Amino acid sequence: MTDELESAGQILERLGLAEIPRLQAEIDQLRQNITFLFEHLNVSIVKRECVRCHAPMYLALLKSGRKMPFNPDGSSHFSSCPFANEFRKERKA
Ligand SMILES: [Zn+2]
Repeated sequence: MTDELESAGQILERLGLAEIPRLQAEIDQLRQNITFLFEHLNVSIVKRECVRCHAPMYLALLKSGRKMPFNPDGSSHFSSCPFANEFRKERKA
């Protein structure tokens, strides 16, 4: 236990006390991002195939009822789907 405390102290020394506010800010940002996800995602992100181009993608279900399609690399599927214009027309109709 004492050894663990000492090594934690050594880590803080190595990082430098000046680093602590920066790390705290990063942690706060991550916490905000996680809170945002939990507040806006309904159930989860489901793996789907695009009904038009059949590319593998992920569908984020938002509490608002909107569905946001993402490519496996994290980019929006609307920006890469060859049928994206048809989706936009359908949403307006
Ligand atoms: Zn598609």
